[in-house]
Amino acid sequence: MSFSQEKVIIIGAGIVGLMTALELIEHGYHVEIFDQTDAAKAASWAGGGILSPMYPWKYHPAVNQLAQFGKQSYLSWNQKVMPISGIDFEIEQVGMLIFDHDQYDRGLNYAHDFHEPEQASSLLTQEDLHQLNPRLNKTLDFAVYFPQLANVRNPRLTQSVLKYLQQHQNVTIRQHIAITKFTRDRSKIIAALDDQGNAYSADHYVIATGAWTESLIQPFGLKLEIKPIHGQMVLYKTPEKWLPNMCMNNTMYLIPRRDGHIVCGSSTNDFGFDRNVREDISQNIIQSALSLVPDLADFPIVKQWSGLRPGSPTGVPKIGRVADLNNLWMNAGHYRNGLVMAPASARLLREQMQGIETFVDAGPYQI
Ligand SMILES: Cc1cc2nc3c(=O)[nH]c(=O)nc-3n(C[C@H](O)[C@H](O)[C@H](O)COP(=O)(O)OP(=O)(O)OC[C@H]3O[C@@H](n4cnc5c(N)ncnc54)[C@H](O)[C@@H]3O)c2cc1C
Repeated sequence: MSFSQEKVIIIGAGIVGLMTALELIEHGYHVEIFDQTDAAKAASWAGGGILSPMYPWKYHPAVNQLAQFGKQSYLSWNQKVMPISGIDFEIEQVGMLIFDHDQYDRGLNYAHDFHEPEQASSLLTQEDLHQLNPRLNKTLDFAVYFPQLANVRNPRLTQSVLKYLQQHQNVTIRQHIAITKFTRDRSKIIAALDDQGNAYSADHYVIATGAWTESLIQPFGLKLEIKPIHGQMVLYKTPEKWLPNMCMNNTMYLIPRRDGHIVCGSSTNDFGFDRNVREDISQNIIQSALSLVPDLADFPIVKQWSGLRPGSPTGVPKIGRVADLNNLWMNAGHYRNGLVMAPASARLLREQMQGIETFVDAGPYQI
């Protein structure tokens, strides 16, 4: 294992920044993480935590290339981090049922055609469905079942990683400090500056600012078209183990948590940086959820929220060195799949920073 004593400033403490920090300290780096608000509270808190792209066959192969490592990576990180943080990520392999009629063929063939055994699936009849999941709407006639798909309880994941980092001797976390620009000397960044003009220096700088990335990189003449995409959620509380599987139809989904909470989502809208919860979107999510599991109507809605995904045109994140700068890096633009891609994205960035051979082709993620 190659080992570095260098210091890295990471801007952004969402899942991408936090996993990057974790990956780097494991290889001897010192990190200083900045967040303009509370750490681990933006999109990475708001997401659903499904550890697979929705309908992976619809995504660019570069998204699936990173996503396929999500579940296994989190299982191992949880083993390492939980004894220190005291917080379980709650990775639940409950499987996923997809009801979209027009996706059956591609769903059933995906694991074989794209060599992803974790995406193995089978076609279930109405009778199979009723046995597997008696809560489902009786009118649902078929589904493709992916038994190995899992979800992670992302608010716990990010809190656990944050807590682990906070106690680590090589980590400094600075919250409520917005980094607004960089100073440079030819091809090297000299410092990151906050909105009060304070300067912070390191050997390397990583931009992991999610939906807020564009303004930070504009001065370098780059236009990556990363923009906030509003996604809304509705949370029900049912008894434990009430809903045995994740369910998906027409891009709307239900995600059961270990304690009986069920996360229902979601929407995709360009409202700029407005994060308000909208009633019409809530109603749409509720109707979709009830069309799959009508008895949910007997249980209370305990919370609703929205988050801003770092939307990008292809959904392929930018991971690597920024332009002609030797020590400025980016790990951003993960759009709908940042939670599942974060561990592999972090590894890919760390390997590039170390100048060693990367475990996947870094080409598709170049800035
Ligand atoms: C409703 C919804 C459902 C989702 N479901 C899933 C899912 O099931 N599976 C999945 O894999 N993904 C899902 N996602 C997507 C996933 O949540 C995102 O891709 C991921 O959280 C992005 O992580 P991030 O760290 O890049 O961004 P964020 O979590 O938004 O973190 C970026 C951080 O950078 C900070 N920051 C920004 N600018 C600055 C600055 N200038 N200075 C200092 N700090 C700054 C922000 O305050 C923020 O804390 C979902 C998202 C939403 C909204």
